[in-house]
Amino acid sequence: MKAIIIGGGIGGLSAAIALKRCGMATEVYEAVKEIKPVGAAISIWPNGVKCLNWLGMKDSLQQLGGPMEYMAYYEHLRGQTMTRFSLDPLIQSVGERPYPVARAELQDMLIDAYRREEIHFGKRVMSIEEFDDGVRATFEDGQIAEGDLLIAADGTHSVIRPYVLGHQTERRYAGYVNWNGLVEIDESIAPANQWTTFVGEGKRVSLMPVAGNRFYFFFDVPLPKGLAEDRATVKTDLSRYFSGWAAPVQKLIAAINPETTNRIEIHDIEPFMQLVRGRVALLGDAGHSTTPDIGQGGCAAMEDAVVLAIAVQTNSLGVKDALLRYQEKRAYRVKDLVLKARKRCDVTHGKDMAVTHSWYEELKSETGERVLSGMRETIMGGPLE
Ligand code: FAD
Repeated sequence: MKAIIIGGGIGGLSAAIALKRCGMATEVYEAVKEIKPVGAAISIWPNGVKCLNWLGMKDSLQQLGGPMEYMAYYEHLRGQTMTRFSLDPLIQSVGERPYPVARAELQDMLIDAYRREEIHFGKRVMSIEEFDDGVRATFEDGQIAEGDLLIAADGTHSVIRPYVLGHQTERRYAGYVNWNGLVEIDESIAPANQWTTFVGEGKRVSLMPVAGNRFYFFFDVPLPKGLAEDRATVKTDLSRYFSGWAAPVQKLIAAINPETTNRIEIHDIEPFMQLVRGRVALLGDAGHSTTPDIGQGGCAAMEDAVVLAIAVQTNSLGVKDALLRYQEKRAYRVKDLVLKARKRCDVTHGKDMAVTHSWYEELKSETGERVLSGMRETIMGGPLE
């Protein structure tokens, strides 16, 4: 049995490692010659961490993860603490900790776990076709690859998704822009062991520790799509949007490097229940594109990989049956994650400012119990709970 995997991002590589681990022959085809992840870092929540542990990367991941022990929200203007609590009750109840990690390092870890020399870089798939006992991918350079099944992990702009669904999908602008990057830890901005968030005006500024004495930072601002802003204007843009905000926020804006700060208009795709057609399965963002508001897009891709590999390995009725079982196990889970993230997105980013203000008020009486119980529910919905 051989699997063709299209896409060498978090989803494609997790799937390739998982299938290889289950004794399957795999070939990974990645469009670009060198992968440059879109964001600076990512928080891997315990459901994702468990998947990477299962894939044999437990020790490597521990080296990359930042020491995130606490979570806190601060009021935007004076920086007063709204709530601060330990993440330990969550860790104890789910059996694993979260790891914020730099994306480039996560990507390298996955590539090394699979074996860099075995990845076919610079191979952009143009079309696929199925025949009685296999599936074929044709690449831009005319090369073809054939296998028993094909995993489409080609991201949110997937060219294979229309083949599976039978129609095109529209990406939906979520209404806000996210700037993100890495900066050296400065404890006068935020504690080094805390996920820190300043909130106000439907905007937020957040910092999480990653390994190597760095904060992963991000700024969110509700804005129209398509503004003429880029790296060249990042400091003036952020200074304008966060004018009057507390001193640590101003200090962070002064510290960031515009050259390595990303500006992303956040989108998702209306969830759909079909993830599989015949011998072809959608995985990761190709099958479920979410806003990053609960930090679960990459984790869900890791979950997909584990479920897919188990479905294929434990099935004796054939590839098509195994993929349908994968779809059955994943469709509701990923729909739930996309819709939860959308709901969180709207509350955080002031879609209805009255609702957002009620959330700010709630935070002032938050002991950690409500927030952690919501996170626990999301985490425990994973395949390795
Ligand atoms: P991608 O990472 O997009 O990889 C797809 C790969 O396929 C790419 O390498 C691409 O080059 C390749 N490809 C595309 N087309 C072709 C083709 N035709 N042929 C061959 N190859 C092709 N998730 C979390 O879990 N936690 C977080 O904290 C988090 N934060 C986020 C913050 C932001 C701002 C954003 C935008 C996302 C965040 N996510 C987070 C989501 C996460 O980044 C994605 O869910 C994850 O990267 C999806 O991985 P993927 O492999 O499915 O897709």
